[in-house]
Amino acid sequence: MISATRTMLTCHWSARRIQRYLDADPAAPLPPEQVHRLESHLKTCEKCGATAEDYRRLRRALLLFAQRHALDPAVLIRVRVRARAEQLLSQNAG
Ligand SMILES: [Zn+2]
Repeated sequence: MISATRTMLTCHWSARRIQRYLDADPAAPLPPEQVHRLESHLKTCEKCGATAEDYRRLRRALLLFAQRHALDPAVLIRVRVRARAEQLLSQNAG
């Protein structure tokens, strides 16, 4: 029971950091100890590992789409800034 609760809390903690971790945005880096904790969790938690893999696939698809359609880099930057802003707002709300 305690173990399940701890895992649930770690999943919640990880879910709030996965995108930031994958973005590796130098403007908002995760502290190294959080990167270590997150990577350890992703290796052992099937659910969070699958979530991270989904995000990776989505990022690859977006990059491919941008390359194929010669998307204006400014558009991509606006989309990323907006996604980050929404992420921050949802973190503050939760
Ligand atoms: Zn998890």
